[in-house]
Amino acid sequence: MKAQAAVLWETGKPWSVEEVELARPGEYEVLVRNEASGLCHSDHHVQVGDSPATLPLIGGHEGAGVVEEVGSAVRGFAPGDHVVYSYIPSCGQCRWCSTGHQNLCDIGAFLMKGATERGPRAQARGQGVGALALIGTFANYSVAHEASLVKVPEYLPFPQAALLACGVPTGWGSAVYIGQVKAGDTVVVVGAGGIGMNAVQGARLAGAEYIIVVDPAPTKQDAAPSFGATHTAASMEEAVALVSKLTWGVMADVGILTAGVVEGTMIAPFLDLISKNGVGVLTGIGHESDVKLPLRTFTLWQKQLRGTIYGGCNPRADIPRLIRLYGSGHLKLDELVSATYPLEEINQGYTDMIDGKNIRGVVTHQH
Ligand SMILES: [Zn+2]
Ligand SMILES: [Zn+2]
Repeated sequence: MKAQAAVLWETGKPWSVEEVELARPGEYEVLVRNEASGLCHSDHHVQVGDSPATLPLIGGHEGAGVVEEVGSAVRGFAPGDHVVYSYIPSCGQCRWCSTGHQNLCDIGAFLMKGATERGPRAQARGQGVGALALIGTFANYSVAHEASLVKVPEYLPFPQAALLACGVPTGWGSAVYIGQVKAGDTVVVVGAGGIGMNAVQGARLAGAEYIIVVDPAPTKQDAAPSFGATHTAASMEEAVALVSKLTWGVMADVGILTAGVVEGTMIAPFLDLISKNGVGVLTGIGHESDVKLPLRTFTLWQKQLRGTIYGGCNPRADIPRLIRLYGSGHLKLDELVSATYPLEEINQGYTDMIDGKNIRGVVTHQH
């Protein structure tokens, strides 16, 4: 069947919105009518080449929609079901899925290849076109493996639902699971976009006393308190004195680095914000660059630096949990969606993201 999709043909070129031909769903696959897709920074990392990926590729790894058709072996979904994608599939079988680490599922090895060994699920200009994270939500329809889908209640609006595929759990889990924020902690969140604002929400729900948001964009600083930030600063250097004052010189128990592009040079000032025995969580995607680590204080102050993908979440458990928190008013999703765009304006959406205008821009699809 035909679909409209934003395809990346060449690194550094804009997204090309064009018609693609989608395969019929295979045995374990589901055809989803996509309603909304979030504009996460990770797609932009692919576009500019920070994250190597196999091209051509349909972008998009945040999304929500309605099941249209299911393959013969699919048991968990039926036409009409509302679904959120999980940008990392959970096969339920591998070592990681079976030990409560669905975010590390072995199928994740195929995310940037855009296809499993079965080959691409779309065609355009006479060749196979992959789908980012095996879902490619920058399209009005996608064919995806059932392992990439989570059923959600129908009352959830699609743009908000789309953010549960990546940004919300990644930020929330970075604070709650990887940072292990505890009641009374001081937390610094560096970078307050679609990931960072949810790290703020996670820290707030975990009981942090102070949550300091560091972001150069005044719009982000203005929005941060409504998500739970108690203080804001424009730079890590500016935050040092503030965090020191608030904590009587102890510094932050947990830091979460969710800058749009992480550079190696950010690590030392980031660790300066963190206390003895404190944890620095590295969530943002970086250039492959050297890191200068202040080794003496890192060792002698017993600091930790922890990387994370998806905030350590188990999407099958955590996406429903986050929906309940939204329903009970504990988690803000409506306020995260700061602008919507038709698919044709996706490049404008990314320009706005780079300019710091959006917490999260969302594409809403036409059919
Ligand atoms: Zn993402
Ligand atoms: Zn798995």
